[in-house]
Amino acid sequence: MLTRASDQTHNLLIDGRRMPALSGRTFDTVNPATGEVIAKVAEAGADDIDAAVRSARAAFEGPWKRMRAADRGQLMLKLAELIRRDEDELVNLESIDSGKPVSAIRRQDLPAVLDTLTYYAGMADKINGQVIPARTDALTYTVREPLGVVAAIIPWNFPLMIGMWKIAPALACGCTVVLKPAEITPLTALKIGELALEAGFPAGVLNVVPGFGKVAGQALVDHPDVDKITFTGSPVVGRQILQGASGNLKRVTLELGGKSANIIFPDADLDAAVKAAGSGIFFNTGQVCSAGSRILAHESIYDEVVQRLAARADSTRIGNPQETSTAMGPLVSEVQMKRVLDYIEIGRNEGARVVTGGSRHGDVGYFVKPTVFADVEHQMRISQEEIFGPVATVIKFTDEADALRLANGTVYSLAAGVWSADIGRVHRFARDLKAGTVWVNTYGPTDIRLPWGGSRDSGFGREHGDAAIENFTEQKVVWIQTGK
Ligand code: ADP
Repeated sequence: MLTRASDQTHNLLIDGRRMPALSGRTFDTVNPATGEVIAKVAEAGADDIDAAVRSARAAFEGPWKRMRAADRGQLMLKLAELIRRDEDELVNLESIDSGKPVSAIRRQDLPAVLDTLTYYAGMADKINGQVIPARTDALTYTVREPLGVVAAIIPWNFPLMIGMWKIAPALACGCTVVLKPAEITPLTALKIGELALEAGFPAGVLNVVPGFGKVAGQALVDHPDVDKITFTGSPVVGRQILQGASGNLKRVTLELGGKSANIIFPDADLDAAVKAAGSGIFFNTGQVCSAGSRILAHESIYDEVVQRLAARADSTRIGNPQETSTAMGPLVSEVQMKRVLDYIEIGRNEGARVVTGGSRHGDVGYFVKPTVFADVEHQMRISQEEIFGPVATVIKFTDEADALRLANGTVYSLAAGVWSADIGRVHRFARDLKAGTVWVNTYGPTDIRLPWGGSRDSGFGREHGDAAIENFTEQKVVWIQTGK
């Protein structure tokens, strides 16, 4: 098993070459399961970002624009092939850098990465315009043109998968990309960039620039030659990005946080509901924007849901992410662990009851025990604010109206789940829940074919499916006067 990424500095990938930062600066990336430094990474500054954007612009105006759309698709398929070839290395790198269990990466992240890539590879040559018969004296039609240079700023919870959600549709549309991974999980993005070069993507089509948000991220946001920012991360940073992007009116897509409700009615299949409620909040150590962090249980089954959920939490295999039997790894960083432990303290002080968990697991690495809070009131901070950790809050409701009021009663609108055997009720909730995705009798699955995103503090715009094609293209009208 890999325990260090390599002794060499992991350099930036700009214009088809691996290079140190112009400043010569580096930063450490740490394995959150052990707290050990696993690699040194070049730290992009504003000057490196400028070089990456220039390279992306040159590639966009040059070889990438001249390539047939079908050939772009073929390159993407080739990249998928190389990802399959190097799957073991990618899984290990992702695991030691982020703390995600190898089993989960293999089962969930890697297949999603490949599905995303092949789905959009197939779309590259199907981005069509329309002939619109507006007039009798002219031929009028539309074409969809790529937007240009895309800055993709991604978080640390699903570095490979969310990275690919952005890269794949952008490349399919004919855009070029500057990818800035999160500073705590930069390694797999660099590897994907290398594989893209090996696949034959022209230099500059995909640049990868690890660095800090306030420096490298901000430089991308401020850069006058970036056409589009696609961002997944926190609402605080989302707001800063929106402000920064106003300079040259960059197009922006924001996928931000959530505090999603998972509503369980007494007529639901309780075994299935509690099982999914458990994975809905504990999967990826709760570091999921659509985590079902608020479990709303009807008063008649409340105690049973709490007790069964606690039993699930207790049976979660927590430990070394490199072992295939591990189901839950550490939080991604010490900062994140402290943040989660702080929230647990806040919950206690607010009067909620810790049924299980509630503390750090071990004293090496950044593990927190899966935690279940009962007796949670709607207005408590642990029920309103995104914790981004393995902390379930279970809230009691009395009837449909109460459940709906609670479910819709946060600043977020990303996802929600409802469990019931009553078809009418299911449809009422599908209609009335404020969420980009409503899951019925399941919780958490996503599919690249289905639009994904939220509103209010969860951001705006949709990724995935056709929506992503709109995100990375602009329509042009061509009006050819023909005469009658
Ligand atoms: P979290 O708080 O969960 O770490 P962030 O929203 O801070 O999530 O980070 C998501 C991504 O946004 C990371 O790649 C980070 O480097 C980047 N980022 C952070 N601050 C800024 C900023 N001011 N401008 C642009 N990108 C930023």
